[in-house]
Amino acid sequence: MFEYAVVGSGVGGAASAALLNAKGKNVILFEKEPYLGGCSSTFTHRGYAYNTGATTLAGYQENFIVKEVFDTIGFTPELIETDPTIVVLQNGKVTPRYKDLNAFLELVQKNYPHTKNREFWELVYRINEDFYKRYGHFYSNRNFFKKLCSLASFIPLGVSFAPYLFQNAQSFIEKFFGVMDEEYRQFLESQVLIVAQAPLREINFLTAALSLGYTFNENHYVVGGMSHLFDTMTCGIKNLKRESEILSIKRDEKHFELQTKEGVFYAEKLILNSTVYESAKLFQNRDIQSYYNSYEHLNNYQSSFMLYMTIRSKKEFEHHYQIIQDERFTHTLSNALFVSFSDKKDKVLAPEGHYSITASIHTDLRWWQDKVLYKTQKKELQELLLDTIINHLGIEKDEIVQTFSATPRTFQRYINRSQLGGNAITMKNFLPKLPSNDTPIEGLYNVGDSVYAAQGWPGVMLGVKNLMRLLDV
Ligand SMILES: Cc1cc2nc3c(=O)[nH]c(=O)nc-3n(C[C@H](O)[C@H](O)[C@H](O)COP(=O)(O)OP(=O)(O)OC[C@H]3O[C@@H](n4cnc5c(N)ncnc54)[C@H](O)[C@@H]3O)c2cc1C
Repeated sequence: MFEYAVVGSGVGGAASAALLNAKGKNVILFEKEPYLGGCSSTFTHRGYAYNTGATTLAGYQENFIVKEVFDTIGFTPELIETDPTIVVLQNGKVTPRYKDLNAFLELVQKNYPHTKNREFWELVYRINEDFYKRYGHFYSNRNFFKKLCSLASFIPLGVSFAPYLFQNAQSFIEKFFGVMDEEYRQFLESQVLIVAQAPLREINFLTAALSLGYTFNENHYVVGGMSHLFDTMTCGIKNLKRESEILSIKRDEKHFELQTKEGVFYAEKLILNSTVYESAKLFQNRDIQSYYNSYEHLNNYQSSFMLYMTIRSKKEFEHHYQIIQDERFTHTLSNALFVSFSDKKDKVLAPEGHYSITASIHTDLRWWQDKVLYKTQKKELQELLLDTIINHLGIEKDEIVQTFSATPRTFQRYINRSQLGGNAITMKNFLPKLPSNDTPIEGLYNVGDSVYAAQGWPGVMLGVKNLMRLLDV
């Protein structure tokens, strides 16, 4: 019997298991795939390696949540700082998002001139700086008393950021800038979407400011691919089971019974890293099924279409680009394509002289269900994205070694989820409606981007920290 079973080795599952292990707890970690990391993993296809989804490690710096968790686990990842964090390409304009506010401001004023630019970006910078000084809130919606405690924990944050917390981002920005051209609005909108996973009209200005401001923090490239970081993070865990999918779970009075192809495992406490949308079907207990089904209304069906490429090229590339066009890309939810390159010196992710490329764009997972249309849509979008990358980044066709794509259905097949990006932080699903890291079911916990706090490395790690507090370890 294990004290803790963790199902899934995404950011939330792997970090929770590694923390519990570091605290001397008897823990077992199950991962369906051979690679650790879920949306933040690395896989190999026909001899070349690719980051699956996430390509930027945000939040690894002094007094930030990701570093705090890694330090507690006791490991230091091999990283390269990325500055500019992204280079935004729009209608021939090139805007690197430098960490230094003044360096960035100079370019933004050149490319998108506006009298309010300095005031706006200084505000974004300040909000971002203040917010991260205050991380580590308590959040539980398990019962009335815990909801009250959560509310109390968020009061100081609410007071400090009240003017931005209760204002819709779109109206705030419109009022702030007065007249603003569509191209600049789109520049802001596209950057917000990749972090907040929702458009400006659906979120508050605090969320928008944090999404626009993350480039002012330290951001890192992970050497050897994201999965390599997970291998290091979890190397102390004795019971780590790869290619071991949990097929069904039964809760008895005292423990959880977890069924795999290899046999049955027992644990006193269970931490699920599967999304709240995919968890009901794992359980045999009706009450647990209804608990997870009650969150289906939060499912926004948002997902990603991915294009993976290996190129052989002597050109120099930045780590990340965002290519914004005026119209939405067909079969997608966005005007913007995010393209990440491996570092030239990273021989693990790509052989010398090569680059591994991971490109992503938002789509709706329901558009990929029709078996007849699927192949045509996939081919159309793959070709369109490929042309866009070639044209904007000056890649020659004969430099391409291989290219292929993935849809929401591919994610479902490999990591058991097609809704990606977790719960968008919108005005509608703000606290306390967000599922918490504990549940009303004794011994059952959740971690990952579909529960508190948010998506991405920093968002999920805030949930890990909260979970540890709820577990009292
Ligand atoms: C395209 C894309 C790009 C992104 N880019 C960035 C970025 O650059 N920086 C950033 O910070 N964030 C980024 N994100 C967000 C970030 O990747 C996710 O928020 C984060 O990785 C989610 O972690 P998680 O803990 O929710 O676990 P998940 O990634 O959901 O992983 C869950 C794991 O559980 C496993 N699992 C599921 N069910 C079972 C089962 N029954 N048995 C065993 N194992 C199971 C899965 O195989 C998977 O490995 C990106 C996301 C996407 C989709």
